[in-house]
Amino acid sequence: MASERVDRREYLEKTVRLWLGLPDRSDVEVPRLPEPLARRFLREEEYEHSYRDQWGCWEFGFSESFRDGTLVSPEIDRWAAEERRRLEGAGISLTPLWPDGKAFALCLTHDVDLVSTSSTPRQVLRSMQNSLERPRHGGLSQQLLRLARPPVRLARAARTGISLAPSATPTLERCVAMELEAGVTASYFFTVLPDRHVSRYDCLYGLNDPCTFRGERHRIVDVIRQLSDDGFDVGLHGSYHSALEPGLLATQKATLERATGLEIKTTRQHFLHWDIRTTPRLQDEAGLAADSTLGFNRSIGFRAGTSLPFHHFDLESNSMLQLIEVPLIIQDGPIFNPVALELDVELALELVHHLIDVIADAGGVATLSFHPNNLEHDDFATVYRSAIEYGLKRGGWAASVGTIQSWWRERAEKLAAA
Ligand SMILES: [Zn+2]
Repeated sequence: MASERVDRREYLEKTVRLWLGLPDRSDVEVPRLPEPLARRFLREEEYEHSYRDQWGCWEFGFSESFRDGTLVSPEIDRWAAEERRRLEGAGISLTPLWPDGKAFALCLTHDVDLVSTSSTPRQVLRSMQNSLERPRHGGLSQQLLRLARPPVRLARAARTGISLAPSATPTLERCVAMELEAGVTASYFFTVLPDRHVSRYDCLYGLNDPCTFRGERHRIVDVIRQLSDDGFDVGLHGSYHSALEPGLLATQKATLERATGLEIKTTRQHFLHWDIRTTPRLQDEAGLAADSTLGFNRSIGFRAGTSLPFHHFDLESNSMLQLIEVPLIIQDGPIFNPVALELDVELALELVHHLIDVIADAGGVATLSFHPNNLEHDDFATVYRSAIEYGLKRGGWAASVGTIQSWWRERAEKLAAA
């Protein structure tokens, strides 16, 4: 996709104009995003530090907002909301952020890492093969560890179950049913098996693998088409190495499109493996229209200080990409994980409702990611169901990454023409 050369100041002005809903031709002076917020938003610290965690990710503890205590506060959205109030108070007419007078957006998303918690014999074999991936670093002990992995994986598969058509009923099907019942849409990100550079972290299902969905045996690709027919957004869950290795995303997107007959526009990287210096450009070059990876594996929070959508800006080349980012705010994993937040259901509900409240008050996007395979556990399902109900009760516009990106582009076009 074509990126646009703009400098930092111009980019921030364009972005703020969109967040406020100020028409391009308006002669109102665009408020300047205060410098500390601009620095946070542009993720300058992620360019300045090369350190990443064991999975190559920028984690919450590395962030300035973690150190200054504002990681779970949408500082930029609050600033924008205040500016909107100020301008409207001065009689300036602004275009609303969200359709139908909705106060904020509730963006529901799912990384389909597993279609079922049990595996086909072929998936078990793939798992054992992938586990043999050679470490790039590490000595003899790492090599020996590698050889110990296949039997461990086999034992794990035996424990979780091996089946010729693994059931998606308690996982994917439950997830979809909850959303259809609530009358909301969502994004489902599916992986395709990488044609090269496989990682031991990669997902193990192929599009033609069998599963049981709605009481019948299907290929996974048929299930994906059913989700699309039901009105859900289907996106790509890029493989682990696709975050850094050129070309993988384009191939995976094309494979998913060919198999499903759908146009794939949205994406999230598996393991949230996403490096600001490389991944957005690769996603943009692959023709993806929107990403929602900008979050954390081990906490919840506002990595860029905002929940609002924005075109990604490449600070090194001074270019604004076509790619729209919809930041990920609440991920299911860290909420219950014993080495992350380790909340119980009651505390999880308080946290999720609190985040929806602060986002709703600032007119942002409450983007949640729940893995369908986690919904087999009632704690996860209770929190997810409650998040949907609470978000709707607060007046949220239930959307997917797909509907948000198309709304955002249409709105930008209208502002440019107004
Ligand atoms: Zn994943």
